Amino acid sequence: MFRSLLLLAAVIVIVWFVQRQRNARRQEGRQSSASDKAPGRIQDMVRCTECGIHLPEHEAVQAEGKTFCSTAHRDAWQQREQR
Ligand SMILES: [Zn+2]
Repeated sequence: MFRSLLLLAAVIVIVWFVQRQRNARRQEGRQSSASDKAPGRIQDMVRCTECGIHLPEHEAVQAEGKTFCSTAHRDAWQQREQR
């Protein structure tokens, strides 16, 4: 029983260590070679349905399967669609 707990703890530490190393490498890549990571960044860009501006997905406002640059543009689009 104690041996299996020790083994489990060892596995958790190894997984944690590997993920930490992976994250550190990712952050290094972001700082040193921004152009290499460009394709990944472009995939994260979305287009505002209202005004057509491109913005990062995590900044976008989502509604009814559409993306918007702000809640103001979401409301404007929804009001126009309802008419
Ligand atoms: Zn917009």
